[in-house]
Amino acid sequence: MREKSIDVTAAEDFGNAVIGVRTGTEIEIEARLESLHDGILVSGSVDTEATGECVRCLIEVRIPVEVEFQELFAYSFDEAFDYTVQDDHVDLEPVVRDAVVLSLPFQPVCQEDCLGLCPICGVRLLDNPGHEHDAPVDPRWAALAGLEGLTEASTPHVDVAEASPHADAEEEKR
Ligand SMILES: [Zn+2]
Ligand SMILES: [Zn+2]
Repeated sequence: MREKSIDVTAAEDFGNAVIGVRTGTEIEIEARLESLHDGILVSGSVDTEATGECVRCLIEVRIPVEVEFQELFAYSFDEAFDYTVQDDHVDLEPVVRDAVVLSLPFQPVCQEDCLGLCPICGVRLLDNPGHEHDAPVDPRWAALAGLEGLTEASTPHVDVAEASPHADAEEEKR
């Protein structure tokens, strides 16, 4: 059994669409290698940092990533195992990458109660407590509001008698 501490930097970005470990980020790996009958069992932990955007307010978020992994590297090709020892080496990169990517959130938020952005002007609501606008005016209603004065002024006041010529006509027929 052997134990190894490995410090590397990410050679390329890896993650999902919204968050990931960026190129150049330090990755600390503690690995324990055990020789078994079929191969080498590698178990360990990964410690690094992922960078992305809050899905609600779009500011940058950095989250610590601490994940564990365990994989058996077969001495010779074996369908039962995904990895094989090659030239006396085990390639931990894909194992570490998978463990990290699977641990990342699909909906990272800057904080659990992030309020997102104002739907009207787009400011970040957490930075602007008490932020509000006058009641939004739908342009169609705005047009009607302009007509309101006109309608009142131009509606003539009518007498009930004058307003019912139909009733008079009925009267004359009799
Ligand atoms: Zn946020
Ligand atoms: Zn606003």
